[in-house]
Amino acid sequence: MLLFTPGPTPVPERVRQAMAAPTIHHRTPEFTKIFLQTRELLLELFGMEDAVMLASTGTGAMEACVTNLCRKKALIVNAGKFGERFVKIAKAFGKEVVELRYEWDTPAKVGDVEEALRQHPDIDAFFVQICESSGGLRHPVEEIASAIKAINPDVTVVADGITAVGVEPIDVTNIDALITGSQKALMLPPGLAMIGLSSHALRKIGEGSGFYFNLASELKKQREGTTAYTAATTLVIGLKEVLTILLREIGRDEVYDQTDRRATATRVALEALGLSIYPKNPANAMTAIIDDQAEEIRKLLKNRYGVNVAGGQEHLKGRLFRINHMGFIEPYEAAWVVNAVEMALSDLGRITYEGKANKIFNTIYFEE
Ligand SMILES: *Cc1c(COP(=O)(O)O)cnc(C)c1O
Repeated sequence: MLLFTPGPTPVPERVRQAMAAPTIHHRTPEFTKIFLQTRELLLELFGMEDAVMLASTGTGAMEACVTNLCRKKALIVNAGKFGERFVKIAKAFGKEVVELRYEWDTPAKVGDVEEALRQHPDIDAFFVQICESSGGLRHPVEEIASAIKAINPDVTVVADGITAVGVEPIDVTNIDALITGSQKALMLPPGLAMIGLSSHALRKIGEGSGFYFNLASELKKQREGTTAYTAATTLVIGLKEVLTILLREIGRDEVYDQTDRRATATRVALEALGLSIYPKNPANAMTAIIDDQAEEIRKLLKNRYGVNVAGGQEHLKGRLFRINHMGFIEPYEAAWVVNAVEMALSDLGRITYEGKANKIFNTIYFEE
């Protein structure tokens, strides 16, 4: 079975091998060496002032950013499940919330953010997804972040990049906290979250807030090569391996380029089959297709052609299917996926199979 869901993604063989070694103790010079090497690679990936790793899923990092980086009032873009999650977290911690809601296919508008900041000058932190995975939507985060800083440089910009870091280049000039997690583009099992931090964010964190997710106590320890509580040793070892492949072997630009070609080739191939791309501004992390027969297509893909893709949630349940592009994916696997979609549509009597999707995919992917 090919796992083509936008998280979790398949863990490469070499990374699984690295994580299969006997457990080592986390308070030892051996682990500290690994931890500091991983931290260096992570700092390079984020391209920011500092970085922290947390033993939690991505949601833990979202929570840590709310508790450590929002004092009073949050401005939150909600165009899907993950934007909604920021709203729920902020409310759970008693923050005032100004919500900018959009349909799940619609990117946030710079003008709406500017307007909200003018109406609420006491907003001190802004939260957004770079890619909102519910609809495979890319928000214009860099543009919004720059507009925010032009109005008030004290507003902290928090970007959830869980389906963007390691997928595409992100301009972090005006981003203060950049969140990612292990089980998406970084191809690890779930359970590790990471945050890149700007110098503005470091100042605002100060003494930190909360207990387990107190970023000040974590940063202090992590700069010394250890963690405040027991480190997720196995996942850190896996992360070092993944980042070594990503940054030192294949190369970051090459991974971004391959992902871009894979996403573009998939979108063009599926549109040629008469399918419709859901988001108005698709992210490269995944392709989301809106279709009344989404469930039938997904079932055929899984049971007949050995491809596992994700569905939609809430009002899009049964109407969306989402194909992953994150991670190191061989072109012959991605080509098989679009071919399988064409076969499924033919099984449903909608088109005649002619190997068109496969041909288009390969032509675009391997184009000079
Ligand atoms: C997967 C994901 C998360 C984190 O979810 P967890 O289940 O807590 O790892 C957050 N934001 C986005 C955009 C995601 O895709």
